[in-house]
Amino acid sequence: MPGPLPASLQQKIEDRLRYYEDLGIRLFYRDRPADELPADDEPILQAVAPESKPRVSEPVSFAKQKADLLASAKIVAPPVVSPVIAPSGASLFDTVNKVQNDTLLKIVEDIGDCTRCKLHKGRHKIVFGDGSPKANLVFIGEGPGADEDAQGLPFVGRAGKLLTQMIEAMGLQRKDVYICNVVKCRPPQNRAPEPDEVETCSPYLLRQIDVINPKVLVCLGAVAAKTLLETNRGITQFRGQWLEWRGRKLMATYHPAYLLRNPNAKGEVWKDLQKVMAELGLQVPKKKPS
Ligand code: URA
Repeated sequence: MPGPLPASLQQKIEDRLRYYEDLGIRLFYRDRPADELPADDEPILQAVAPESKPRVSEPVSFAKQKADLLASAKIVAPPVVSPVIAPSGASLFDTVNKVQNDTLLKIVEDIGDCTRCKLHKGRHKIVFGDGSPKANLVFIGEGPGADEDAQGLPFVGRAGKLLTQMIEAMGLQRKDVYICNVVKCRPPQNRAPEPDEVETCSPYLLRQIDVINPKVLVCLGAVAAKTLLETNRGITQFRGQWLEWRGRKLMATYHPAYLLRNPNAKGEVWKDLQKVMAELGLQVPKKKPS
């Protein structure tokens, strides 16, 4: 039996696998036969049982993963792209009790010095959210990284700087919008939040959205999109399309961290943001931001 992989290599493999998942490629379950994989239209929180094994239970070299992927890709038919229907019936969020006369302050107080999930163990600061409490536009990311955990503010690291540039390219400033995350404590090694963490923390996100009452939500990356839409579909299947979410317009686009790794995708995100601007009646600048 080979020994455990060094943590840094494990992290790189996990990042790469998440990157493929963001692209809608889900062929990495080495521990499960294909017929046990969740169907594309199963809700994410049902599809991934809390006790389920980690996605990559048997890490192998990336070269091998890639070879496996390419081999499987040849025999797998392209996915049928059908529109994502945002949940209209009872959903995760309908089970959350509405708080009468809710305010952002009440939500902060309710969160308190939270120990409801295991993420509290490694956090320095809870990252609640930042921006205008009356914003028409809310950006939702995945969860704080190291910089955010240190400062207690969302999107202040490298990805955050890119998000700030994107907001400014829209003719807005950070104080004009609201920025928050699905989970409010940093996941260790910046891994994706786990289903139980999302389930524990997302009711506070819902309350934030209800209080702010924005016209448009922009989900930055697959975690935010899959959480709100309760879908396990890859983000590429619905990125850039207007979706209806609890009476609001929702646009999913790529996460700024993804853009740092894939600058060629910036054009796609800019097109998505132009749609958002048109919806909000903001003037679309002629020049694409660099
Ligand atoms: N990535 C996120 O998803 N959120 C942050 O706040 C920072 C980086």
